[in-house]
Amino acid sequence: MASPVTGLHHVTAITGAPQANVDFYAGRLGLRLVKKTVNFDDPGTYHLYYADGQARPGSVLTFFPWAGAAPARPGRGETTATAYDVAPGAIARWQEIFAEAGEDVGETFERFGESGLRLRAPDGLVVELIETDGVDGQWTDGPVPVESALGAFHSVTLCSRAPQETARVLTDAYGYREHGQEDGRIRFVNDAADRARYVDLSCDAVDGAGRQGAGTVHHIAFRVPSDEAEMEVRETLLGMGLQPTPQIDRQYFHSVYTREPGGILFEVATDPPGFATDEAEDELGRSLQLPPQYEPQRDRIEARLAPLSLPY
Ligand code: ZN
Repeated sequence: MASPVTGLHHVTAITGAPQANVDFYAGRLGLRLVKKTVNFDDPGTYHLYYADGQARPGSVLTFFPWAGAAPARPGRGETTATAYDVAPGAIARWQEIFAEAGEDVGETFERFGESGLRLRAPDGLVVELIETDGVDGQWTDGPVPVESALGAFHSVTLCSRAPQETARVLTDAYGYREHGQEDGRIRFVNDAADRARYVDLSCDAVDGAGRQGAGTVHHIAFRVPSDEAEMEVRETLLGMGLQPTPQIDRQYFHSVYTREPGGILFEVATDPPGFATDEAEDELGRSLQLPPQYEPQRDRIEARLAPLSLPY
């Protein structure tokens, strides 16, 4: 039976100070902060969600800010790059923006016939911008003009400790097929995805042991349209001898986590209910949202969190 997965849902990473995180991902890259909440397992710290203009699954980059976290070094068993779609011509404009600000202009590359720019964010996360025809969803009310703004995810790059087994999970449980190989990089595509459709396996950027810290991707999540679809994927994973968690309510989606054999934490996340359930669509990310179990402690939680200022 075909997998109900439709591409990537979100990527979650560890970062350092929360204000620096907002300044870079919203202020510099122009992603939209779509949810300001707390780490449900550690409500004294933020969980910040960025996305495209419509807060669509397939564009959501989230962070656990751990103040004082040292920059990470990518290693095996990790997601080593997260790529966004940008419009053709945007890379040159981005390099001008970084050069004018006296910041690192990144490294350009060609991959599967597309032009890319590889950036190392101030917290250490590797973010790639890849020029793609048909980029959409860009946020138009942010600090970055639409012709340069980021759309959905293009892809993620995984450096697996067991690439063949990771590939088998991608194909047999998550509905991917091999799309091509180039310079040791194997690209997988999910044909049912309307965005965020690629996953690459490559250990290109990795030399030596990794170091967890700011800029480490904690996990990646794949999209499913419903709870039923999520349970179907969970059954497939169990049938493959993997050990998925029970379904967990993450307030904005429902999640099942699996450590795949190559060492990377894979989540399945439902599209519903989405981010506009506890605040209005045009107010997303502007005030602290707490899940019901923490609402009675709001005063105490807010007192422990440094206020964040938005660059727009
Ligand atoms: Zn997640």
